[in-house]
Amino acid sequence: MQPLLDNLLVKHREHYVHGTVANYIPALGEVSPQLAGVAIAPLNGDVVGAGDWQTPFSIQSISKVFALVMAMQRIGDTLWQRVGMEPSGQAFNSIIQLEWEQGIPRNPVINAGALLVADVLVSHFSASQSAFSHFLRKLAQDEHVFADQRVLSSELEHGSRNAALAYLMKSFGNIHADVPAVLNHYFSQCAMTMTCQQLARSLLFLANRGVDPVTGEQICSAQDAHRVNAILSTSGMYDQSGEFAFSVGLPAKSGVGGGIVAIVPQQGVVCTWSPPLNAQGNSVVGMRLIADIAQALGLSIY
Ligand code: GLN
Repeated sequence: MQPLLDNLLVKHREHYVHGTVANYIPALGEVSPQLAGVAIAPLNGDVVGAGDWQTPFSIQSISKVFALVMAMQRIGDTLWQRVGMEPSGQAFNSIIQLEWEQGIPRNPVINAGALLVADVLVSHFSASQSAFSHFLRKLAQDEHVFADQRVLSSELEHGSRNAALAYLMKSFGNIHADVPAVLNHYFSQCAMTMTCQQLARSLLFLANRGVDPVTGEQICSAQDAHRVNAILSTSGMYDQSGEFAFSVGLPAKSGVGGGIVAIVPQQGVVCTWSPPLNAQGNSVVGMRLIADIAQALGLSIY
């Protein structure tokens, strides 16, 4: 496995020049475009990696996966009365469908849907931000998981689009808590920093029917693990989810920090990181790495 990861990183890392580091959140724009890492966690938890796989980065939208699991466990099927399960076919921060669809976001992993999920967490946990970071530390089996305060304040200062999404949903009665509290929670979950190693380790439960395969703890029900993987398969790579299913064939989630996680049911988790993004907000190098890993190891679920 190690030679495969080393070779693929050499093969693909120079393609970072074809992407652009997200700078609509100014603190994210300060990260070096040349950093790149990859890690694979098999079900036994012995993670292998190459490149900058132990360097923390901003998880951004990958946080939507953890938040969704927490909300599903907390309020069960009522969640699906407030958020849909269909691909959006629009940019991750699009507002256009929200008005057409009476403030019901298309799915929980576009920004509107993640803000709805953040509202559930704020409304059902007395301290939702610390509940969220405790959840990450438990899953990573690592206490060294923190929010980057610079990214958090940068996003709070430049969060007008997300504020607009939240207020529009509030006007339809689909956000229950105060919008500033929802935005605070959402930005703080996006500002968490993790390494490829920690992220791959953390999501093993989704490859193992909801059970952490190393500790044996049931993190979510098998049905919820199935549902999260289904949502990630259809929507996790935003409006490039169809192409990702076509070329890779794994449930996956990307973030504008340049990370991508891909779940390989019954086998493990792949995580890549390289900051420059393509037009859809997915890491250029990460897309190439995961496609080649899936091909080399025959990982497609289809
Ligand atoms: N915090 C980012 C935002 O809301 C997350 C987006 C992403 O990673 N796609 O814009």
